[in-house]
Amino acid sequence: MISDPPFAPSYGGEGGGALSFPTFRAAQAVSWGLLLSLFMPPTVHPSDITPLTFLDYPKKAACIFWYNGCNLRCPYCYNPDLALSQHRGVTDEIAFLKERRSFLDAVVLSGGEATLVPHIYELCSQIKDLGYLIKIDTNGSNPQVLRPLLQNHLIDYVALDHKMPSDRSWKLPDGSILYDRFRKSLALLLQYKLPHEVRTTVHPALLDEADILRMIREAAQIGYSGTYYLQFFFRTEHTLGHMSPPTRRYDRSLLDRHSPLPIGYRNFPEDRGR
Ligand code: SF4
Repeated sequence: MISDPPFAPSYGGEGGGALSFPTFRAAQAVSWGLLLSLFMPPTVHPSDITPLTFLDYPKKAACIFWYNGCNLRCPYCYNPDLALSQHRGVTDEIAFLKERRSFLDAVVLSGGEATLVPHIYELCSQIKDLGYLIKIDTNGSNPQVLRPLLQNHLIDYVALDHKMPSDRSWKLPDGSILYDRFRKSLALLLQYKLPHEVRTTVHPALLDEADILRMIREAAQIGYSGTYYLQFFFRTEHTLGHMSPPTRRYDRSLLDRHSPLPIGYRNFPEDRGR
């Protein structure tokens, strides 16, 4: 419900404090500005910025904006403060970018869940106007947000999570099935031919080899033909679901033998120190 504008100028008359015409016009402008602001999505800022990374945007020098808030509760989430917080952040990310145009190529919007940033279109437009490439990290739950970003060429790369196989998919807070959203998100990326990757965070207590192969096949059936990235659970003291350390290693030769897509392994314990 839209309430009355907070400032209603009086035209004078009995008992009314008459305003001169210029004063009235100024007041009217303020009034409309306030009214319009009711329709504008609220601006949120990153709660943190990683100022420089060469690992998160393929072959580019990038920064990462970390936004609060998420619509999932993955048990392995190693950023519970970020996922659970609704704080709007205070960092002026646009001022940050203006100062770094000479040595940064790209911006990664991450979180939390970046597609929940209420003013994401305005944000991406502003970043694009500064000449940066934009990557979005997403849990795939908001294809309706991705579509206009794709249609308007506001993003350049997407890292899309496939969280669970379709037969064990999680539900979103509105009751919809995450897998259905993932499928739509991936189909959109393929339709718009946007560079992207599909990835899954893995922990043997959550997903076994058969689950993982099913998920890779699901992505392939939707049309994905790139490298499928498996990211090993990142252990910290405070994961959302208090996950225990893994008690076994994955059989990677089995995965490689049966996967319809090439697999990229990230952060696997057996590769550390190589
Ligand atoms: S891992 Fe990502 S999608 Fe899952 S709860 Fe954490 S921020 Fe949300």
